[in-house]
Amino acid sequence: MTIISILILVNVHTVQARDKLRTVGTSVTVMLNESAFSENETGRYLSGVAFNEGVNIYLIGQDGSVLYPSNVNADEPYVQKMLQAAQKHANQDRESIGAIYSIDDKTMSFSSVIGNAENYYLVVNYPMQVVTSTAQSYLIYVIVICAIAILVAFIVSYFISLRLAAPINSISEGVGELAKGNYDVKFTSSEYAEVAQLSDTLNYMTEEIKKSDEFQKQLLANVSHDLKTPLTMIKAYASMVQEISGDDPAKREKHLQVIIDESDRLTGLVNDVLNVSKVSTNTALNKKVFNLTDLVYGIVGKFNYLQETQGYNIMVDIDPNLYTCADEEKISQVLYNLMSNAVNYTGEDKSVYVSVKDYPAENRIKFSVRDTGRGIAKADIPNIWNRFYRIKENHARPVKGTGLGLSIVQIILKNHCFDFGVNSQVGKGSTFWVDFPSVPALGAADEE
Ligand code: ADP
Repeated sequence: MTIISILILVNVHTVQARDKLRTVGTSVTVMLNESAFSENETGRYLSGVAFNEGVNIYLIGQDGSVLYPSNVNADEPYVQKMLQAAQKHANQDRESIGAIYSIDDKTMSFSSVIGNAENYYLVVNYPMQVVTSTAQSYLIYVIVICAIAILVAFIVSYFISLRLAAPINSISEGVGELAKGNYDVKFTSSEYAEVAQLSDTLNYMTEEIKKSDEFQKQLLANVSHDLKTPLTMIKAYASMVQEISGDDPAKREKHLQVIIDESDRLTGLVNDVLNVSKVSTNTALNKKVFNLTDLVYGIVGKFNYLQETQGYNIMVDIDPNLYTCADEEKISQVLYNLMSNAVNYTGEDKSVYVSVKDYPAENRIKFSVRDTGRGIAKADIPNIWNRFYRIKENHARPVKGTGLGLSIVQIILKNHCFDFGVNSQVGKGSTFWVDFPSVPALGAADEE
């Protein structure tokens, strides 16, 4: 931009100089040709013009003698130079009154012939060096500034690219390690927000892959252990029936019952493993409005056989006609798992309390199931939701659980974004609870 301005300035100045030379040169030529000035008058006239117009005027004879100004010596080299240029242009351009040219880059000249016999040459010089040298120094100044700016930009961008490349290189090395199965790799953060975000995401991803890898290993170990025990039992008792108790109906019955129990346990395990993988992979919810009261009654009903055959007390306090919006099938599984835990871990009195309470002011329904068992220690509470976590001393009855029930509950309720939790006191029992949104019953069967 600045360079363009300088070029325009020089150009304007050149045009102005030409105009001035043309005007002054022409008028002086006409004046000298038409007036019969004496030598003195000519001198005065020319010095007046030179002073007023800011130009240098010379009147040089054909022979190189300098008529004006009188103090200039004819043998000065620049006088010879002016004479040669004037002769050259007078010969070249006889038509016009004078010619304009540059003898060097400091001066622009006008020359014309005075008198018919080509006695004298009038040379008018306009000094250009002020503008050209100022423009030149500006140009140099601008070029130096530009060069410095380019250099600084280059150095800065070089260092920026180094600083940017370093974390990206370390990230790509880390990803390479990750691909080899090294999950201990840590992606270091960077001062650049985007790179820092990428590192955080990769760290999160690594943690998740690590967890999933550990889960797979744990799953394999747990499943193979849990499969092995009942299978060993089944095989042992089947052999006993075959070899020992086959003829003794009482013993045979006992041994066959063990085989049936262990088979049930195997079925339970396989179902839980299938369920946990199903709810983990299929997070889509088929939400609709349904009657929660009826659902809870239905699930409590499934445990009636325990009341009838094993003396369990399942007490209910359920508000009528409460509606919620959720994936009914999955919620049914949640309630079933919580109920069966309460039944499994309740105390000697075999009591379980189920409550469904409406809180209209808060638009919520609280489901809770309380048992009177040994409770859960504070330290264990965060872990019980983990897959395969089992508190060993809790199992009063022969354990049927797989350690997967609460993790299924957690996955489903988190998918729904429902609040849930447990309040427990060691020695007194536990209350598992879930908050459901309360919705109006009628005309609300909108599927999401
Ligand atoms: P499980 O199939 O072993 O019951 P869960 O995931 O349902 O597995 O529960 C995990 C562990 O949490 C159980 O093994 C048990 O130790 C503890 N737990 C769950 N519910 C209760 C409860 N109502 N009272 C005491 N402990 C419980």
